[in-house]
Amino acid sequence: MRIAMLARNPSLYSHRRLAEAALARGHQLEVLNTLRCTVHIASHRPTVFYGGAPVPKFDAIIPRIGASVTQYGMAVLRQFEMSGVWPLNESVAIGRSRDKLRSMQILAKHGLGLPLTAFAHDPRQTEEIIHAVKGPPVVIKLLEGTQGIGVVLAETEASAKSVIEAFRGANVNILVQEFIKEAGGTDIRALVIGGKVVAAMKRTGAPEDFRSNLHRGGSAEVVRITPEERSTAVRAARHMGLNVCGVDMLRSNHGPVIMEVNSSPGLEGIEAATGKDVAGLIIDFIAANAKLGRTRTKGAG
Ligand code: ADP
Ligand code: MG
Repeated sequence: MRIAMLARNPSLYSHRRLAEAALARGHQLEVLNTLRCTVHIASHRPTVFYGGAPVPKFDAIIPRIGASVTQYGMAVLRQFEMSGVWPLNESVAIGRSRDKLRSMQILAKHGLGLPLTAFAHDPRQTEEIIHAVKGPPVVIKLLEGTQGIGVVLAETEASAKSVIEAFRGANVNILVQEFIKEAGGTDIRALVIGGKVVAAMKRTGAPEDFRSNLHRGGSAEVVRITPEERSTAVRAARHMGLNVCGVDMLRSNHGPVIMEVNSSPGLEGIEAATGKDVAGLIIDFIAANAKLGRTRTKGAG
């Protein structure tokens, strides 16, 4: 098959692994720098240009769109979808997952376990939302944060109020969440491909940090997840509409609660912790499922 990968840095571990896995299986894989793609919008002829020429026909596209270029990356991906190229994850589903509030609303609608979460526009409602999530303490998050940056634990009402007011005063959108203390600075990442959990790891934060992100100095080990965690991860992927994703859960007193669903999960931590060839499984999934014109939403909706 001819596979394109939208990525800015081909030498990142995850991108290198996907390229190697594709080549090892006899496919062609071309890396397109997301920001060097141009979108030409003309009636009936959605086209993407690369280096001044229309891109050739690809059978499938792997979007690895960085958080800092979500909007542009999704527009490029949408254009590929509209021209019939099958995406590993659809632009609409990536858009859902990149907005934490939208994701929480979708998952809650389908009855999945979540930390109590609230959101308000007006700083006058600050007290109301702190109490709505049974705080203090509360966790305050930027709606579009990633890698643990922009996730704050406020232990008292006064600190919660000042953090919320500071963010809102700077016109930054946040959500406020119940602090799952019993998780003890660890979380579970379940990697889902095509409706199945193929690998799972437990991440533990650096000492004194309640955030378990590997980018914040956390460490990872393989973990056996419970059937409830497995089904939570699978259902989350299905309701978000993602073929491939990392579902992050906390072990709370009332079962697994989802913190976020990541549509471009990093492969380095999970492959190292579990010894699984996740990149190979992703390419196998593409080979089994990609068909020209099989995009469900075609970027709309
Ligand atoms: P990011 O997108 O920046 O990774 P997350 O929502 O995943 O943001 O939060 C980062 C980390 O902070 C999580 O991996 C988890 O360890 C910790 N954390 C997030 N929300 C909560 C919460 N409600 N209760 C306890 N710990 C949390
Ligand atoms: Mg996270």
